[in-house]
Amino acid sequence: FGGTVKEPPLHIVHIAVEMAPIAKVGGLGDVVTSLSRAVQDLNHKVDIVFPKYDCLNLNHVTDLHDQRSYSWGGTEIKVWFSIVEGLSVYFLEPLNGFFSKGCVYGCGNDAQRFGFFCHAALEFLNQDGFNPDIIHCHDWSSAPVTWLFKDHYMHYGLAKSRIIFTIHNLEFGAHFISKAMAYADKATTVSRTYSKEVAGNPAISPHLHKFHGILNGIDLDIWDPYNDKFIPISYNSENVVEGKRAAKEALQQTLGLKKSDFPLVGIITRLTHQKGIHLIKHAISRTLERDGQVVLLGSAPDPRIQNEFVNLAKQLHSSHRDRACLCLTYDEPLSHLIYAGADFILVPSIFEPCGLTQLTAMRYGSIPVVRKTGGLYDTVFDVDNDKARAEAQGLEPNGFNFDGADCGGVDYALNRAISAWYDSRDQFNSLCKRVMEQDWSWNRPALDYMELYHAAKKY
Ligand code: ADP
Repeated sequence: FGGTVKEPPLHIVHIAVEMAPIAKVGGLGDVVTSLSRAVQDLNHKVDIVFPKYDCLNLNHVTDLHDQRSYSWGGTEIKVWFSIVEGLSVYFLEPLNGFFSKGCVYGCGNDAQRFGFFCHAALEFLNQDGFNPDIIHCHDWSSAPVTWLFKDHYMHYGLAKSRIIFTIHNLEFGAHFISKAMAYADKATTVSRTYSKEVAGNPAISPHLHKFHGILNGIDLDIWDPYNDKFIPISYNSENVVEGKRAAKEALQQTLGLKKSDFPLVGIITRLTHQKGIHLIKHAISRTLERDGQVVLLGSAPDPRIQNEFVNLAKQLHSSHRDRACLCLTYDEPLSHLIYAGADFILVPSIFEPCGLTQLTAMRYGSIPVVRKTGGLYDTVFDVDNDKARAEAQGLEPNGFNFDGADCGGVDYALNRAISAWYDSRDQFNSLCKRVMEQDWSWNRPALDYMELYHAAKKY
């Protein structure tokens, strides 16, 4: 893709099951909200159809009101409307209780619940006469939209619509994904390198002609150290040193860590195999050996992994109480303070479709230390090794990275990062300033999506 698109405004409807900040589990939730806002800012009309979970974070929902109800799938479905982060959201509440389970995922019959939701969402669009240009669905959870649309709606009320399917993570529900790939008009995944990494997968390989890698961005209003109520001092690249010093002190104070100037490594993640658990554990001990501080914010859907980390947290609490803190929970405000207060954000993923934490880290002037995979490879350029690769993107190097999936790899990147902090602080501070000035927003990717949407219309 490339070039400016001069086409009439489009109407885009997302059918999704995660949306930041009202029901976010991982990056998918961030992307649904921030991509929609970016496209809306380009003067297109965007609506979101969303399950009305009982566990919605209602602090961010203004003026929620019910509009009407309809009968479908053997139950009554109430339609609610609200504005969330400036976006029009239609909430569907089936009275069969499918979304009153206290959680987004992990309620036993997720496939059945979300399959029902997809069909109910199309039925809602059809009955309400929406007929959007684009229906955009995401991952296995709204994959059924692709075939339900073609089987039941394409030749009826939704004749104008084209279906876009985005894979945020191929690991989840691969069998749904192969069917969705066949039915979608266009498909995307969330970075160019990940699109190449999965190109040989049997779910993807027959469909490469309509499959594109478009990098995710971050929402500059939601992630903005100059306007962030969770950090002590507003800062931008001009006063990054002062801003980050205050944030580090606040973080140390909040978590009971020693208030002194240590190199501080932050880790913010779901604790799953994908995220490189053994590498995370190794990095914690290596950082402590190098007299640094570590803050981990993460939670594990698998109780065994959660338990392992609970035990590690206890051990560290007795051995390194003032230099390590593991917060084994989901905590949005604390994540902001860590992005701001850390010197480094570590992302040692085994695979990573795009990764948002390294991008958010840079927005807050923290230096990413990452494994070279997927979107991490496309966005982090090593200060020692990737000058030419960065220049080819019009960028300067912005972090530290490593190959391989063993402890030696982590050491290679982390040791250089920590040494840069100890040995050449002025240069390190310039690096913090530089990464803050790089643009990892939706500015560019939103144009790529618009071009894809227009191409789908002509398909
Ligand atoms: P994934 O979608 O695989 O979880 P991403 O890097 O794409 O990974 O997105 C993760 C998002 O979730 C980021 O916005 C990150 O800040 C957030 N996040 C992850 N774990 C936590 C947590 N324990 N508390 C708060 N935010 C978290």
